[in-house]
Amino acid sequence: MTTVTFLGVGAALPAPGETNSAYLIESGDVRLLFDCGPAILQQLAAVGKSPGDITHVFFSHSHGDHALGWPMFLLWWSIESRARTVTPPVVLASVSTWSHLRLLWEHSYGELPTPAFTPIELNESGSAVELTNTITLHTYPMVHSSRFHTLGARFVERQQGRSIGFTADTARCDNILLLARDVELLVHEARYAVSGPPESAAQAKYHCSAQDAGEFAQAAGAKQLALVHIGAEYQGRHADLIAEAKTRFTGPVFAPRGGDAVRL
Ligand SMILES: [Zn+2]
Repeated sequence: MTTVTFLGVGAALPAPGETNSAYLIESGDVRLLFDCGPAILQQLAAVGKSPGDITHVFFSHSHGDHALGWPMFLLWWSIESRARTVTPPVVLASVSTWSHLRLLWEHSYGELPTPAFTPIELNESGSAVELTNTITLHTYPMVHSSRFHTLGARFVERQQGRSIGFTADTARCDNILLLARDVELLVHEARYAVSGPPESAAQAKYHCSAQDAGEFAQAAGAKQLALVHIGAEYQGRHADLIAEAKTRFTGPVFAPRGGDAVRL
C-alpha cells in the first residue's frame, strides 16, 4: 500500500489554521518528503512523524514556503539523531536549489557539523533517479519563477505499475502532461480560481487555476485529482474550486486539508 499524506496544503501565505504545501509519500521502505517549508517539524509531528522517519527529501524549488524548513529539519539530525541508529536521508534538489539550501544551513546553524545526509544534484532540465530498485522519481522543469528554478515530479512504483504526479508550483506548461500521464493521483497546484476576484488573473504568470488543474488531469488521463496550494482568499470556498476543476475533469476531485491522507 502507498500513502500520500498532505502535511500542508496552503499557498505561500497560508490561511489561518493552514500551513505551507508539503507531502509525505510512503511506499515500502521509502518515506519521501516532498518540500520542506518553515513549519515542517510541526507538520511532521502533527501526523506522528519526525525527521528520523524520512528516507528521502525532494525540493521542488527554493521559495521560502517550500524550503525554509531545511535548516530546522537538518538541526533535528544534528542534535536528536546522535542517540539513535538512524540513517540521514537522501536529499534531492536541482543544482540551483542546492546553492540556496547550503546557504540556508550556513546562515542558520553554520557553527554545527553538517549532518551526513546524501545530497543528489538534479539536472535542471529534468532527470530520473532510482530511489530503490523498484521506485523511480522522474523530474520535469516547471514554469514558475524567473530566478528560482522549479521541478515537478512523477513518483513511479514500477512493480505495481503505478505513478503519482506532483506539479509543485507552476503556470500552465506542457510538462504537466508528462508528469501526470495516466497517474493514479495527480497532486496539482490550484492557486486561484478563474471565477475568483479579478486580481486572481495576475497569478496566471506563476500559478495554475483550478480550471487548469481539471484540464490537465483530463488531458493526461489521471485517475483522481487533489487541488493544493490554494490561496488563503479561498478559505471556506474550496468547494468552488472543486466545482471549477470538475467543469474540465470527469474523475474524482478533492481539496485535502492539512493532515489528510490518501491510500492507493
Ligand atoms: Zn509555493
